[in-house]
Amino acid sequence: MKYILTLCTVLLSAWQLRAGILSECYTKMAMPLQLNYLHFGYTESLHELDHNFRPWQASIYTGKGDMYCSVFHVTKADTLSDGKRKATSLSDYRSGQLLYQDYGTDGQVPVTQGMLEEQPYTLARYTPVLLLQHFLSEEIEESKDAPAGYAVYKSVLNGRHISLYIRKSDRLLDKVSILEHDDLYGDVLSTLYYSDYAQLEGQLHYPRKIRVEKYNGKLTDEIQVHGAELREKAPVLLTPPDDYALWQPPLEEINIRTEKYNDRIHFIELEHTDDRSLLVEFDHFLLVAEAPLNSENGERILAEAAKIAPGKPVKYFVFGHHHPHYLGGLRAFVHQGARIICSDVNKEYVEYIARAPHTLQPDKLQQEPKPLRTELVKDSLRISEGGYEMIIYFIGNASQHTDDYLLYYFPQEKLLFQDDLVWIPKEGPPAKAGARQEGLYKAIQGLGIQVETIIQSWPVRDYGVKTIIPFRELEESVQKQ
Ligand SMILES: [Zn+2]
Repeated sequence: MKYILTLCTVLLSAWQLRAGILSECYTKMAMPLQLNYLHFGYTESLHELDHNFRPWQASIYTGKGDMYCSVFHVTKADTLSDGKRKATSLSDYRSGQLLYQDYGTDGQVPVTQGMLEEQPYTLARYTPVLLLQHFLSEEIEESKDAPAGYAVYKSVLNGRHISLYIRKSDRLLDKVSILEHDDLYGDVLSTLYYSDYAQLEGQLHYPRKIRVEKYNGKLTDEIQVHGAELREKAPVLLTPPDDYALWQPPLEEINIRTEKYNDRIHFIELEHTDDRSLLVEFDHFLLVAEAPLNSENGERILAEAAKIAPGKPVKYFVFGHHHPHYLGGLRAFVHQGARIICSDVNKEYVEYIARAPHTLQPDKLQQEPKPLRTELVKDSLRISEGGYEMIIYFIGNASQHTDDYLLYYFPQEKLLFQDDLVWIPKEGPPAKAGARQEGLYKAIQGLGIQVETIIQSWPVRDYGVKTIIPFRELEESVQKQ
């Protein structure tokens, strides 16, 4: 017996020696959850970058949830509220399987490999035990570069660079950093800080406060854990369908169509994002308006511009407002040497995007940095050459959509190009105008410009709305009672 005990001690210390501080942290924070569940409730504040009026303006949600968590299995039921509406989601995760009922859906939704693989780090905003389990089972070695007082462990999971910072003083997890690629912001760092540790049954240490600094510290969420207890079982929230399988989304097809409106105006339609970019051809240069979502789309539009008007440089890039469908591709135009037309409202945002490091998925501007050159529009900006002109008007929050809204007016054609303000159905008579649509109408009246046709950038095909709109239909919709 004594021999067996000694052997066990030797094996245990050999294991601890091999895995070091990570295994000691695991012992304190996760080991009891090999056989039990940590059951707890939580409340959270959640900040999301939806399509809001100003850059970096977040929508704020409050959430409440109930979780059961072992190192192998997690169930979660939660409710999110924006102050007006509430929605619930359910999830059940274990290695190789995720069952998920999304907010606002009645049944389970298809789950992709990516959704499955992100669970250990998305659930880390409530508990880090799945990450600790992953790092221990992958036998991740302690990193050589660590700040004083910390043992650091680094791993790449689902393309994310994840680092655990364990305090040497008490072997508890202090923070987790997650570096990932974002199409718009490039390398994006989130840091999860764990604090207010408590103990259950003298053996399990768990944090009761988690602060999440995300988007390189631009937004911060807070999570409070309460009512923790150890349980032997988790409730069944969802059951797998008989034919359970991960869903493989079809590969994205890239279709680009160009359309000549007249000798000066061309449209470049990107079917995969449902956007229409505008190309204006002057005698010696081009202007491009709108480039959706990412640098790749920006490059695609530049390639089309080179086909439409070979040899003419793109002198200007302009976006109608700061939402991703319009400025997401602006880095390609910075790289190409174009001036970026912007306003006081979004100049800093343009600078942030143009200068954001993209080391995880380098685009051309990352590979070959170029200076950002901007041109400010105040109330209006006239661009003309050889007797042809367009006028860019700043209407800002008169759009009832964003604080930085621009319209492009072509006096010769009596044509107005704008992004996403008009929602007139393709079929049937125009319905009563909504706030944005009325905002556009009033802005046009206020500018005193003669408009016959309005062309919209997004959506082109979806939503069943017109994107080439006779002005009188806009007028009718506003005058409707
Ligand atoms: Zn928008």
